[in-house]
Amino acid sequence: MEHWPALELASTIRHDGEGGVTDDLATAHGTTRWIQAQADLLADHLPAGELTADERLRSEITELRRSVRALFARAVSPAPPSSADAQRLMPADQALAHLNAVAAREPVVPQMRWLPESAPAARLLSAENDPNVRLLAALARAAIDFLSGPQREQLRACTAPRCVRYFVKSHGRQEWCKPSCGNRARAARHYQRQRMATDSSITPS
Ligand SMILES: [Zn+2]
Repeated sequence: MEHWPALELASTIRHDGEGGVTDDLATAHGTTRWIQAQADLLADHLPAGELTADERLRSEITELRRSVRALFARAVSPAPPSSADAQRLMPADQALAHLNAVAAREPVVPQMRWLPESAPAARLLSAENDPNVRLLAALARAAIDFLSGPQREQLRACTAPRCVRYFVKSHGRQEWCKPSCGNRARAARHYQRQRMATDSSITPS
């Protein structure tokens, strides 16, 4: 399965396994842990060494996440968005402006590297010294790439009971983000059908 930083960012709001929703970025400590877990995805854009989130970086990342989730909601529409924040989505034009503004905070220059015996590779050279700005801008660029790429059309909000995840459909008929969600959704449908059958059997005809 492929991993996209934008999807990983959106997925920090998730089902807690008990019917509620939990936020991996609720604290600066949790945010630091999340950034470290993304190290591979963001390696090209971050300075070496560990990046520790403070409250300011945490709130900037969660604000960026709000804009990403609002644009994910737009991408899956007219299907319903994730229920986690469906009632308090940032307006799409505001989300777009915020995403672009965060991406614009880091001036970058495309560079090509082509070592003998290896394939040419493109990378972005940064003129930004602040690692927090680099991280934010890298996440924003990743979201721009994601939403303007072919995977946008495969983006779905999982419709399983209680699930709040967005996911990228990897095969034609996939309806749920993971097999356990499919099992839960099928069980719920089965239960509903049985209840309807019982209801109609006691309704006088
Ligand atoms: Zn799911």
